[in-house]
Amino acid sequence: MPRGRSTHVRIHDNLHLRGQGPRYYLSAMDLQGRSFVGASRGAGGEGESRAVNPVSGEELDPPYQAESEETVEEVCRLAAESFEEYRGKSGKERAALLRAIADEIDGVEEGIVARMTAETALPEGRCRMEKGRTCFQLRLFADLVEDGTWVDARIDHADPDRAPVPKPDCRSMWRPVGPVVVFCASNFPLAYSVAGGDTASALAAGCPVIVKAHSAHPGTAEIVGGAVRRAVEKCGMPDGIFALLYGSGKTIGQALVKHPEVKAAGFTGSRAGGRALMDSAAARPEPIPVWAEMSAVNPVFVLPGAMKERGMAIAEGFVGSLTLGVGQFCTNPGLVVSGSAGRGEFAGQVAAKAAETAPATMLHKGIAAAYHEAVGAMTSKDSVESLAEVEADGGNNQAGTAVLGTSAGAFLADQSMADEMFGPATLMIEAGDEEEMLAVAESLEGQLTATVHATDEDRASFSRLIAVLERKAGRLVYNGYPTGVEVCHAMVHGGPVPATSDGRSTSVGPQAITRFTRLVCWQGFPDDLLPVELQEENPLGIGRIVDGERS
Ligand code: NAP
Repeated sequence: MPRGRSTHVRIHDNLHLRGQGPRYYLSAMDLQGRSFVGASRGAGGEGESRAVNPVSGEELDPPYQAESEETVEEVCRLAAESFEEYRGKSGKERAALLRAIADEIDGVEEGIVARMTAETALPEGRCRMEKGRTCFQLRLFADLVEDGTWVDARIDHADPDRAPVPKPDCRSMWRPVGPVVVFCASNFPLAYSVAGGDTASALAAGCPVIVKAHSAHPGTAEIVGGAVRRAVEKCGMPDGIFALLYGSGKTIGQALVKHPEVKAAGFTGSRAGGRALMDSAAARPEPIPVWAEMSAVNPVFVLPGAMKERGMAIAEGFVGSLTLGVGQFCTNPGLVVSGSAGRGEFAGQVAAKAAETAPATMLHKGIAAAYHEAVGAMTSKDSVESLAEVEADGGNNQAGTAVLGTSAGAFLADQSMADEMFGPATLMIEAGDEEEMLAVAESLEGQLTATVHATDEDRASFSRLIAVLERKAGRLVYNGYPTGVEVCHAMVHGGPVPATSDGRSTSVGPQAITRFTRLVCWQGFPDDLLPVELQEENPLGIGRIVDGERS
């Protein structure tokens, strides 16, 4: 629909757009509560559920219809059929689609903000910022595939005279893997949901996408789904490259991951959910990768020099990072480790700053319940002391900041102390000396991030700590805080299990695209049968490695 057209226009998928200018309002009355199945809407029939306003507890219209396994069958068939055509689209054509999706999302910003604030309790500013990030990611992947160099084209020319055997002509590049299932994240209703980073990178790679909606924000998902659908139609792309399904993870989510036409999945959520999907994917006759982001406590180490020099400032910055977004970030710092010197004052300052924070509403009932359970389990331990616990003031699904403390010895004796408390809670560990700090670092599971606060003097004596942390985390932060993941070319948002299912990947930034690809080599092929990226004359002018030299 052209921008600037006025009021109340019915478009092909029966979503109404109201208002003037580039931003349209989409009211709750316009939502249909149905899945997107290619160019059609889902039949439902497997029960219904509604979004719940986490602040008021009010159930929101419309009811969302859960899909059957027959619908799963249909979307997988459509995706597999459309893959044949979509994988042949040029980088320019895929870039146009990604930009069209971003434009369509920009066009329904007001509708998204209205629905998203009601479904998630996230403040308006956060919703707008996340919308901006989502569109930025889509456009970043558009630039990437339009440029084309990302395919990592490599050419080794033949050498018929090589002794003792001739060398064949070999050419390789990344190719799309096939239909991808994306599970929406509850904590990123836009940036890691329907048209978020997983979807953007899969579509950019040339893979059709089937999205499994999250039950906590179905309306936000429907508005974004409508935007994607309109972009697919406007760009003349095959209908089957996008579907959005409502229904439970244990039924349709599992059926999607087990379907033989599905070749990869992207997931952000709980360790149990991610693990269940990884196990199902591994048990298939043809196992597939599940790129799951699951659980991390993102340790922060405050070294002695830094503690002495600026312990109070670090405490303040730390509490800001801990409480950002009610702690509902995968990079939330759930563990802080320091030596004994100055620790009392530092912990006191963290506790004092935490005590000043107000309780706030979490994303949904399940997350709030899991938070209270996790904090309760930690505080019930004899060796854990409560340094500050902000009480909820009676509102629905509220969480207050919790600062708990323990010794390195107690932590090392009880593995469950390293469990994620998803929300604004942290465990402060007191280590007697450098060796104990190292032992804590060594004991940790895989993390998305690890942070070190240090001075020049600390650097000399704590180099072993940095070496241990490099083995543990996908991103090392120096004199900063882990929250706030920059979307940029060098970003790594990944880490060894259980931070993610496979520490060789990132889900943020352009390198996320390779998760949905596989390498293919063409040996001895005539030029006209090669993908254009590998043809001798390099018609796209992309960067390549030819006979070992970058060009
Ligand atoms: P979740 O329970 O793991 O759900 C995420 C998605 O996976 C949902 O669509 C869910 O479907 C599906 N799912 C869950 N278990 C499944 C299974 N066994 N088989 C197939 N699909 C399954 O995550 P959540 O609702 O976002 O939050 C719950 C907890 O996860 C939080 O309290 C927190 O501890 C953790 N979490 C961690 C991060 C992180 O980045 N570290 C982010 C978000 C959440 P249904 O909704 O239909 O069950």
